[in-house]
Amino acid sequence: MTPLLAAALLVVSVDGLDQRCLDNAALKIPNLRRVLREGDSARGVTGILSKTAVITWPVTVDAPVAFNLPEYIKPPASHRFRKSGWMIAHALSPLATSSGMPGAGAVFVHLVDLDSQAHDNGPFTPEANAVVERTDELIGEMLSALPKDGRLVLVSDHGFERAGKNVNLLFTAARDKITGIEPKGGFVIAASQPAADWLRNLSPEHSIGGEIPTEEIARFAPPWKGKFLFEPAPGVWFGPGNDVLIAKPHETGNHGHWPTRYQSVYAAWGNGIKHARLPVMQITEIVGRLATLLGVKMEGR
Ligand SMILES: [Zn+2]
Repeated sequence: MTPLLAAALLVVSVDGLDQRCLDNAALKIPNLRRVLREGDSARGVTGILSKTAVITWPVTVDAPVAFNLPEYIKPPASHRFRKSGWMIAHALSPLATSSGMPGAGAVFVHLVDLDSQAHDNGPFTPEANAVVERTDELIGEMLSALPKDGRLVLVSDHGFERAGKNVNLLFTAARDKITGIEPKGGFVIAASQPAADWLRNLSPEHSIGGEIPTEEIARFAPPWKGKFLFEPAPGVWFGPGNDVLIAKPHETGNHGHWPTRYQSVYAAWGNGIKHARLPVMQITEIVGRLATLLGVKMEGR
């Protein structure tokens, strides 16, 4: 059997890796810096919001792939770092050729530790930075385990913001008998002009950071065209409760903010990939880049 793909592609998704981590010169991330220096990388990746689809992990359960390690399988140790180490050891094995069979052409690895740590202690904290540095070591292991003609793509699913204060706008909305307010954590939706006016005139303790321009709603969240969206002040999360105005959230970092608030990452490194610094791209552009690297044509494109 001829291998479908000529060269191995290893796609590594570091959950919650914010572009600001890669831009932080103080972090000890020599392997990630090598990928950025030698490969092509975006200056940042912007997400989009959609109301049309929800994809729940683990999406790969029962998928027709040769070597599948769905995320519900618990690693033998509960220690955060060991979990990723265990994943890496298993993730790299399909890349290796054995008993005359070609290695896997494409491997997708999802590293979850940074997301957990940034939720617990907040992003960009010493704890979260330590996980970024440990992740860099794991990526170093992957780079050295790649076949000579292999490529590595680094992506992340979202950035991160501090969210140490929970503001429940529905508490005041109930008091003022206002309807059509929908808190979404990283932003709040007002369904009508009166509801939007009410948000615009709230006192500072409600931590309204600003109103999202209409053209940004059309660009990043078309289903909400015609509605009014507002962002929280830095460090604030618009909670779903209505029992008290200000509460302590159970997490000090979160994601699900308006797409201009932070950026995720994209970089590609390895055989045939020339160094380039790409402008900020939208997260949906990545799929086309992966298809090109894999030499496959996507249906409907
Ligand atoms: Zn998360």
